[in-house]
Amino acid sequence: MKNSVAESMAFFTSEAFDAKFRYDGKDLGAVCSEGRTVFKVWSPPAEKIELRLYKDGIAEEVYCRRQMQAGEKGTWKAEFPENLHGMYYDYLVRIDGRDTRTADPYAAGCSCNGGRSMAVDLSRTNPPGFEADRAPEGCGEQIIYELHIKDFSHDADSGIPGEYRGKYKAFTVTGTGGDYPTCVDYLKKLGVTHVHLLPFFDYGSVDEAGDEKQFNWGYDPVNYNVPEGSYATDPNDGTVRIRECKEMIQALHKSGIRVIMDVVYNHTHHEDSWLQRMVPGYYYRYEEDGSLANGSACGNDIAAGRSMVDNYIADSVMYWAREYHMDGFRFDLMGLLTVELMNRIRAELDEAFGPGEKLLYGEPWSADDSPMEKGTRAAHKKNAGYLNDGIGIFSDDTRDVIKGSVFYAEEPGFVNGGAGLEPMVLHAVTGWKDGGACFEPKSCRQIINYVSAHDNYTLWDKLVLSMHGEKADFHRQYADVLAANKLAAFMYFTCQGNLFLQAGEEFARTKLGEDNSYCSSPELNMLRWRRTVEYGELVEYYRGLIRLRKKLPGLCDKSPEAAARVMCRRIHGEGVVSFLVDNRASRPSPWEELFIVYNASDREWKVALPEQGCREGEAALQAAGHQAAARRENCEVGETEGTVWEILADGSQADCCRAAVFTEEGIPAAPHSGILLGRRKRV
Ligand code: CA
Repeated sequence: MKNSVAESMAFFTSEAFDAKFRYDGKDLGAVCSEGRTVFKVWSPPAEKIELRLYKDGIAEEVYCRRQMQAGEKGTWKAEFPENLHGMYYDYLVRIDGRDTRTADPYAAGCSCNGGRSMAVDLSRTNPPGFEADRAPEGCGEQIIYELHIKDFSHDADSGIPGEYRGKYKAFTVTGTGGDYPTCVDYLKKLGVTHVHLLPFFDYGSVDEAGDEKQFNWGYDPVNYNVPEGSYATDPNDGTVRIRECKEMIQALHKSGIRVIMDVVYNHTHHEDSWLQRMVPGYYYRYEEDGSLANGSACGNDIAAGRSMVDNYIADSVMYWAREYHMDGFRFDLMGLLTVELMNRIRAELDEAFGPGEKLLYGEPWSADDSPMEKGTRAAHKKNAGYLNDGIGIFSDDTRDVIKGSVFYAEEPGFVNGGAGLEPMVLHAVTGWKDGGACFEPKSCRQIINYVSAHDNYTLWDKLVLSMHGEKADFHRQYADVLAANKLAAFMYFTCQGNLFLQAGEEFARTKLGEDNSYCSSPELNMLRWRRTVEYGELVEYYRGLIRLRKKLPGLCDKSPEAAARVMCRRIHGEGVVSFLVDNRASRPSPWEELFIVYNASDREWKVALPEQGCREGEAALQAAGHQAAARRENCEVGETEGTVWEILADGSQADCCRAAVFTEEGIPAAPHSGILLGRRKRV
């Protein structure tokens, strides 16, 4: 290996390096099977590697030492003629004459707090029925609920037994909450299609042997391929976290919900990681002066774009998809990874599980600049056009136009008094496919529409702060904030693209104005289940929006032609816009056209239907090609005369159905609310 930073950077990404050291085998780690266990690591600079086996996770006494044999491409191997399931292990890696102890970056299991790896025969960790576990059928839309495992059931009102609170096991409990279901029963009733779980690979910021007062979001990876131990009922036995994590996924699947894993391949908890100890300098990016790059703002950046880094990340994703039946992945700071890597992961998942079967999306930004590898493109928003259209990006444009900046509490968006945002709102409706943003998505399939996530203020707190300023009382049920909350939800639920909400957004979740609660108390972070009753009306509104959305193929359409369904976009005045959506599809829907109005103003508006001639999108739709044409053939096209308009949602109710009464000037659209009409063919 070379010495100076510039030299090693150049060498690590050179063809010479790849020719000599790129190892594409899928057998790194400890692979246990009947009568055999093979340990294999990749460390080109090592002079010697010693494998040490231990009978448990903490005892100092080494049960067995074995010198690893050097193999092809910088790999090292040790083989045993027995199944060593449950055996703990680590390595002494000699580089430049110095031995460094490390756990295995490819380990499938580990000790309490992850300092030692564990050999696992994965088939022995499956809960009953796990082999038959399948993801529930899709419904044509992704409605993603972002959840932290501890938040979910830390509250005693969750109805979860004490020993399961804050654990994977909480997801296996049903029948909680009686008349007002909580936890998984609640999610099922709410109707979300996906649960996106904040990091649950093994992370470092919580002491697994410590108490339940600890809390962290978990964006500090230690063992990428092992579940976090603080969510297990016993962190000391390395098999328990694996089994219980699988039980959680199985239970969600049984409830009709797919599961997405939040993955953090852009940085590690510390630079002194297993990756670094195994191959110093290879897995991280450095500045020219030799200091660590810090585009993650977490102290280090993983060097995506190097062959063995990319192999590591892609193999890890495939491992979770195969072994744990994960249905999708959310990439933290995806802007620090590369377009090439993301497209590769998309292709590998499609190949193994079927096109689009696994959901992929991420944050299309980084915290700061990072020295990317030569010849790579950052998986950044501005490069959306280079990403496969099956890779989604969080739309900060949609988020900010609806409710205002995430950085400045007082800055409003459309629903809370922002001015001049009407044109942007009408672009957001198409998932920015029509231009109008600083990037060009391939289709709205790439767009994740949302107004709140774990980062920054909850939606409720943001609205309270921007609408009531310094006198803000987060516990007060402000009527104007409730209306703005509903309108915000109404808006993103009527935008094309995928839908995403932070857990509890639908019951006015508050963190009392804390905008970065990553290590705040569990009490501040947890879902307070009583609020589902206190804010029952808001919950019902979201539930209605979720049900309704699934019935509207014109909004669910993820094809590149979907934007052409949005027609006759009009600005009626300050804070008042409307548009039509062609809702015809081969998938049956009672309504062939939708008319949608957002009224963020202080007064009622009468909004007339657009003139017949304004459906300029029709021509575009026809020109857009075969998909649209195919849809058209399967539908009967009704004229306005033979049809009736129905109100499907307004400011107080969603997924209702009652006749719309037009006055001469149009349909009355109440202040601070949306209205959605469907044109049904008269029978
Ligand atoms: Ca941990």
